Amino acid sequence: MRAKTVHAAVDGLAGPRKRARDHPSPSSPPSSLKTKLAKLGIHRDFDLVLHLPLRYEDETRLTPIAEAHEGAPVQVEGTVIDSQIAYRPRRQLICRIEDASGLLHLRFLNFYGSQAKALAPGARVRAFGEARPGFFGAEMIHPRYRLVRAGMPLPEALTPIYPTTAGLPQATLRRRIAEALAQCELDETLPADIPERFGMPAFRDAVDALHRPRPGEDARALTERSHPAWQRMKLEELLAQQLSMRLHYRERKRKIAPALSRAGALTTGLLERLPFRLTRAQRRVWVEIERDLGQTHPMHRLLQGDVGSGKTVVAALSALRAVENGLQAAVMAPTEILAEQHFRKFSEWLAPLGVQLTWLSGSQKKKERAAAAADIASGATRVAVGTHALFQEGIVFQSLGLAIVDEQHRFGVEQRLALRAKGLCIQGSGAGGADVEPHQLMMSATPIPRTLSMSYYADLDVSLIDELPPGRLPVTTKLIAAERRDEVLLRVREACRAGRQAYWVCPLIEDNGVAAEAPAGNARAPGRRPGRRQAEALQLQTVLDTHARLAAEFPELRVGLAHGRLPGADKAAVMADFAAGKIQLLVATTVIEVGVDVPNASLMIIEHAERFGLAQLHQLRGRVGRGVADSVCILLYQKPLGERARARLKVVYESSDGFDIARQDLLMRGPGEYLGVRQSGAPLLRFADIERDVGLLEAARELAPQLLQQHPEHARRHLARWMAGKSELMNV
Ligand code: ADP
Ligand code: MG
Repeated sequence: MRAKTVHAAVDGLAGPRKRARDHPSPSSPPSSLKTKLAKLGIHRDFDLVLHLPLRYEDETRLTPIAEAHEGAPVQVEGTVIDSQIAYRPRRQLICRIEDASGLLHLRFLNFYGSQAKALAPGARVRAFGEARPGFFGAEMIHPRYRLVRAGMPLPEALTPIYPTTAGLPQATLRRRIAEALAQCELDETLPADIPERFGMPAFRDAVDALHRPRPGEDARALTERSHPAWQRMKLEELLAQQLSMRLHYRERKRKIAPALSRAGALTTGLLERLPFRLTRAQRRVWVEIERDLGQTHPMHRLLQGDVGSGKTVVAALSALRAVENGLQAAVMAPTEILAEQHFRKFSEWLAPLGVQLTWLSGSQKKKERAAAAADIASGATRVAVGTHALFQEGIVFQSLGLAIVDEQHRFGVEQRLALRAKGLCIQGSGAGGADVEPHQLMMSATPIPRTLSMSYYADLDVSLIDELPPGRLPVTTKLIAAERRDEVLLRVREACRAGRQAYWVCPLIEDNGVAAEAPAGNARAPGRRPGRRQAEALQLQTVLDTHARLAAEFPELRVGLAHGRLPGADKAAVMADFAAGKIQLLVATTVIEVGVDVPNASLMIIEHAERFGLAQLHQLRGRVGRGVADSVCILLYQKPLGERARARLKVVYESSDGFDIARQDLLMRGPGEYLGVRQSGAPLLRFADIERDVGLLEAARELAPQLLQQHPEHARRHLARWMAGKSELMNV
């Protein structure tokens, strides 16, 4: 949540706070300060050096009150004429100040009595803020202010404003940062020719320029982060990421994994029994995976393929390869529904081959879970299928040879970290001892854009299924305004009467703009997130209402209901009934978004389609068009459509290519989506933005191997400076 709690609280702006805490002794900050700094990710002195300003304010000039206008924050100075506490519409302090040019109201909603007293008539105030036309005339709401003596000199340089957290004033941060700058070693970690080549300042100078801008420095370049000092810091950061990725990759190649080199009766058995032939693309990726699995170092391969391209069967072959080499496999999915479906599919394919499968999930009864855990530990289980519960405390595999993670990007960063950690501590004898890691196969229907695969995913190998199984009928997409809902109901009735099935997807309830928020790549201004609970409650209410309405509308049909709050077993039962055709119309939230596979379902209705993301619509649409019947996906939208919404729906309407759609999605929404960083708030890259700074990213990618080869000592020091304690987070 780090990026979320950071906000630019500014002196005199965030309301009352306890002054006594603001004066730490430099050597050992009091624990409350320590806690607050830790909230900002500051644990060591050097973190203060790297705690760079969010923006800069220009306090070097005074603006006459009459020239202070909406749209641009300015600094004014005036004398208090009067100050009063008003009680309507709520308690507030209104202070009028005046300079030679005019009058201005300063309005404070949170204030101390002492503040009100200090702003007495005759006091001289310097206030920084944005003036707006108010009820009484021009006003500044909660300006940052200080009392001054007449003629007190103005600062000569821009004032840095740091990301901070509640109760940690800018002044305290500034003091701590100045101390850190004086104490820390700021020598170069890069060979001198690198910054020279890019026309960038030395590290020490860059840090200094950002924390203590010199008089006359270009405020815009500093705020927009295009200043050479910022460029230097971004390159530093990207280089640290690249170095860490390379080392990680190398390290993996040095680690030991069980070589799954024997091709046995199980994989051949499955291929013989399948009702279809593998596509050429499936065969190609299987060869790539087979080759990796036969190596003595762990595979970390990402299997990409559009919705419906047939990744599951490749996963099943891989699992069987582990089993026929005497080891276990684990298959993990991000949702209970999807995991349950894999369990069914794997049972259908693997059980006839005599492979012992075990189901494990968080919603299971304690007793069942204990029994599953015991089978996994004893080795009775050959393939375990479940949610991330598979990789939690207390689950110990006897000899895990392969971990398969479906819809990998759906897992939070923490879960991915846990998985990595689990990989490091495989126990038991079958796999050959404590230092042995299992192979990992990750799967995703969401293609990784180039900039992401160059950065966060740089340590993975990638396989691509770029072909759909033959005979797939394209899904017809229709855009229909919500007012024509009756026609849509008619279609549902017809489809179900003809023996087919339909999904009815309920709208997302927007979470007060959180969904539209910028990716958390950089520290940004306030990310308050009200309304998440409320949005979830509304969401639930909507799906319940819709279900009730549709059930009343179609008394002759069996109408099912699936949503995230349903207990796991109930959800599984509904999905099983739908898969078996006992339910004809399934009303659901986006819980069905990933991977659900019911070939007889040929109609999908998505309500308020304008609220969904592109990738999400494509994923949802991918639930139909899996069987023999002509499939239709109806995007119901509410009029009037905004321009952006119209553009988005047009993309989905016109394209059925997931990769194409994903590219457009990245352009519209930024990379945070792919990384799951929104949920986790892991720091990732703080200064560089892989899209905007792609040039620097490319440079870092080129420099990293050179540095490792020619200047290993520099590389080591660079990583130590940038990555202390964070290395795992840079490559999840
Ligand atoms: P995804 O890549 O989205 O996970 P699935 O693995 O669920 O796709 O496959 C979608 C459907 O296509 C499944 O019903 C699966 O059995 C079927 N399928 C997979 N491979 C082939 C193939 N080569 N020929 C025909 N059908 C296939
Ligand atoms: Mg799938």
